[in-house]
Amino acid sequence: MNFKDYIRVIPDFPQPGISFKDITTLLQDGPAYRASIEALRELVKEKEIDLIAGPEARGFVVGAPLAYSLGVGFIPIRKSGKLPAETIEEDYALEYGKDKLAMHADAIRPGQKVLIADDLLATGGTISTSVNLVRKLGGDVVGAAFLIELEELNGRGKLDGIDVFSLLTY
Ligand code: IMP
Repeated sequence: MNFKDYIRVIPDFPQPGISFKDITTLLQDGPAYRASIEALRELVKEKEIDLIAGPEARGFVVGAPLAYSLGVGFIPIRKSGKLPAETIEEDYALEYGKDKLAMHADAIRPGQKVLIADDLLATGGTISTSVNLVRKLGGDVVGAAFLIELEELNGRGKLDGIDVFSLLTY
């Protein structure tokens, strides 16, 4: 399946100069959505994985079905103030904006192998913040998986030493 056929590219969103890769057109197609998650599972199949962690909101759309398909748990990484129990937090800068990400303090036990998943790797800010959260709790980050990688922004450079798996590159 040529997954790029299902991605809608929107110029100048949300700001002039940004070429937004819209995955909603992939998600709304049942066979394409399922095939994309299965293809991602195939990419990470050599990895031993105890848990998948994904940042809101599109990280849930990729990470949760991947976790379900692998039969492992899913950990939501959320914007500050959303999680009900005790949290740990990290500041981060986005491709366009700034925020704080949080994870439940008891989400990961030391030594657990965690794959981080999101829809798209741009500058790597979101994912390196997620990596820091997982490591704060003693988790072992075994890789990061994406539907899309924007190569020219070199997010990989921020994820030094972490295996990066991406289904599509632009
Ligand atoms: P990064 O932190 O710069 O790597 O940006 C990645 C985050 O921003 C992901 O959580 C994406 O959902 C979002 N993002 C950035 N650019 C795009 C885009 O072109 N399409 C969809 N999401 C994007």
